[in-house]
Amino acid sequence: MFVCSNHVKDALKLMYVPHIKLITEEEGFRCHLCKNKAKYKLFQYYHQRNMTRKAI
Ligand SMILES: [Zn+2]
Repeated sequence: MFVCSNHVKDALKLMYVPHIKLITEEEGFRCHLCKNKAKYKLFQYYHQRNMTRKAI
């Protein structure tokens, strides 16, 4: 998932185990929520979801 700086917090709420990478705008990706230029790439690792819920 790619998001702009306005929506990185909203996107994090959608994800159980966020991993964030800052990307350059020149890469041309669009925000998942508003289609503006993305500044971050968010990774989600599904196999860790159950472990994280137990930890919380
Ligand atoms: Zn956005």
